[in-house]
Amino acid sequence: MNPFSLEGRTALVTGANTGIGQAIAVAMAQAGADVIASGRRDCDETLALMGSGRQMRLDFADPMAARDVFAGERIDILVNNAGIIRRDDAVDFSEADWDDVMDVNAKALFFTCQAFARAALPRGAGKIVNIASLLSFQGGIRVPSYTASKHGVAGLTKLMANEWAAKGLNVNAIAPGYIETNNTEALRADPDRSRAILERIPAGRWGKADDIGQTAVFLAAPASDYINGTVLNVDGGWLAR
Ligand code: NAP
Repeated sequence: MNPFSLEGRTALVTGANTGIGQAIAVAMAQAGADVIASGRRDCDETLALMGSGRQMRLDFADPMAARDVFAGERIDILVNNAGIIRRDDAVDFSEADWDDVMDVNAKALFFTCQAFARAALPRGAGKIVNIASLLSFQGGIRVPSYTASKHGVAGLTKLMANEWAAKGLNVNAIAPGYIETNNTEALRADPDRSRAILERIPAGRWGKADDIGQTAVFLAAPASDYINGTVLNVDGGWLAR
């Protein structure tokens, strides 16, 4: 069997209606997976791009939203991609902007992994791919809850890998660099910030959502069976500078 194929696997991708999540869903479908595209709104566009698959409504404003998802059917691959960002000076940052971001990016991610693991551990096989960030390693500016949540994603990825690797579950993360999506629209709209970012990227371009999609396929495929607890930078070399 092709170790890079997802043939015969079912994958759930969160936040799959747009951006990086959509690209991951499409890349996994192209690699042969049966993809469940989940979103807090419809994923019709993603389904059309995949030409197959299903969709599921999950809104992580309730961090426990996925509690019953994995008991009903066999899902082999979980991609925790849903995420939000709020920007304000640290000195003004509100409790609501702290809680909303932490709930979606960190708390929901952990409890979705837990629900997945409860179903997958008895089978002794499963792959989790979490979407981290450069701000899993760097501080950033004016994004305190995002930085806290993404540092949390990196730590939780390692913790879960430590507990579950010997039981057949691979838990890893991808740290995307600067990718052209809604998430980075504000940065790209600011000419000074946009130029400063581009000048620092050794690859000389912003990332595309598909750059992350293809990496997610690798981390979900048998080819990466001996990779546990890693946070893989897909950043055009940003963190190498
Ligand atoms: P995006 O286009 O804003 O996509 C974010 C996704 O998360 C959307 O599908 C969004 O749904 C979903 N989402 C937000 N709140 C949700 C909730 N309460 N319940 C369920 N889904 C929710 O941004 P993106 O760049 O593709 O981001 C995807 C992931 O990559 C995020 O975790 C982000 O932090 C991470 N990331 C992105 C970059 C980058 O450069 N773009 C860099 C590092 C990390 P709606 O469309 O309904 O809002």
